[in-house]
Amino acid sequence: MVGIEASIISHPRTWKASGHIASFNDVAVNCSKCKFSTKIDKSEVGKVKCEKCGEEYEIKGEFSLMFKTSVGALDPIDAYLRGETAQGMFLDFKLVQQTSRKQLPFGIAQIGRCFRNEIAPRDFLFRSREFHIGEFEFFINPEEKKCELLEKKHLNLKLKLLDAETQSNGNDTLKETTIGEMLQDKRLEEWHAYWLAEQILWFYSLGLNEIKIREHKKDELSHYSSATFDIDYDYPFGSKEVAGNANRGQYDLTQHMKESGEKMEIFDDKYKNKIIPKVIEPTFGMERVFLAILTKAYSYDKERQNIVLKIPARLAPIKAAIFPIVKQDKFEKISNEIILDLKKEFNVVYDKSGSIGRRYSRNDEIGTPYCITIDEDSTKNRDVTIRDRDTKKQVRVKISDLKNVLRKLISEEIDFEKVGKLVD
Ligand SMILES: [Zn+2]
Repeated sequence: MVGIEASIISHPRTWKASGHIASFNDVAVNCSKCKFSTKIDKSEVGKVKCEKCGEEYEIKGEFSLMFKTSVGALDPIDAYLRGETAQGMFLDFKLVQQTSRKQLPFGIAQIGRCFRNEIAPRDFLFRSREFHIGEFEFFINPEEKKCELLEKKHLNLKLKLLDAETQSNGNDTLKETTIGEMLQDKRLEEWHAYWLAEQILWFYSLGLNEIKIREHKKDELSHYSSATFDIDYDYPFGSKEVAGNANRGQYDLTQHMKESGEKMEIFDDKYKNKIIPKVIEPTFGMERVFLAILTKAYSYDKERQNIVLKIPARLAPIKAAIFPIVKQDKFEKISNEIILDLKKEFNVVYDKSGSIGRRYSRNDEIGTPYCITIDEDSTKNRDVTIRDRDTKKQVRVKISDLKNVLRKLISEEIDFEKVGKLVD
């Protein structure tokens, strides 16, 4: 996998080639009764009623979701801010392949800001004009049907699926299935199955188990895709799309080759043929994932009477807070030594104001997983207490071991209670 950062402003022909100018449209509607105006998806025309009062919508016409700008001074041309990061990766596909000396199969990945001409921005982070997408474009020889990376942990992976047939029957019953069964049912191909499984495993690894997979029906597939799945997350306010996974086939590279005249084929050593690769695309709405992590982590502790943000330690912006027990030179001196050492590796803060309890609360609320206190014993024994955010348990650890202990705690290689002597 090769990471890149492509440009935000792109030539209009990029979006002509990709099909976005012709098809990346929504439908503007007005409620016939309460006059509420909004937009709906093309596939929803005639199927959805006013979200405010339940009356019929009047269709006002299609509009482009592409964010238009102009480039040039005297004779400007229309250009577009990217509506997705994918096209930049297709345009740079050959350059990346050559400079990083990759053989198929390989991927390009990118996280970046994208723009949409959203006429009705609302729903907090869900309908906005600018947002971040994280995308992988994974390139495969179209002849390669087998995925060598597909293991038992992928095939046996359990998930909740809303399949296309169920939806076509007007039903929304989820069924328990596995990636292996989805393959048997021919809902997707092996490489597609591998990447969908990897995405699900990633969500599970962050503790975000409340996800379900929704298969796109034939009539709602994007213009480029032969199979697409949405990954929806159950937020406290309802289920929303948080990620997706599409089989884009050879569509994009073929289109760019036609539009630009540049050759997009590459020679595949394994099959000894010159081909245009096909593409599997896992996508993440980064703000949506962020919000899933925040809502999952948020908890109010009645006993402590403060919020405890239980984000996994590896995602916490601040890994540890260092407290001298009281403001005295002998404690502050050791605290400074510790800070200087830990700072080389971790984002840590120093906090000496207010009671220890107040300092714990402040750090609970911003999700700092570990608080380190320097006290009288520290001056004699060169050790400190570490307090765990979620359990409030404390252990005593040698200052010389501190960096190593923090590293293991953050990567979840060791249980908190095993890193040192428990203190009451
Ligand atoms: Zn209405």
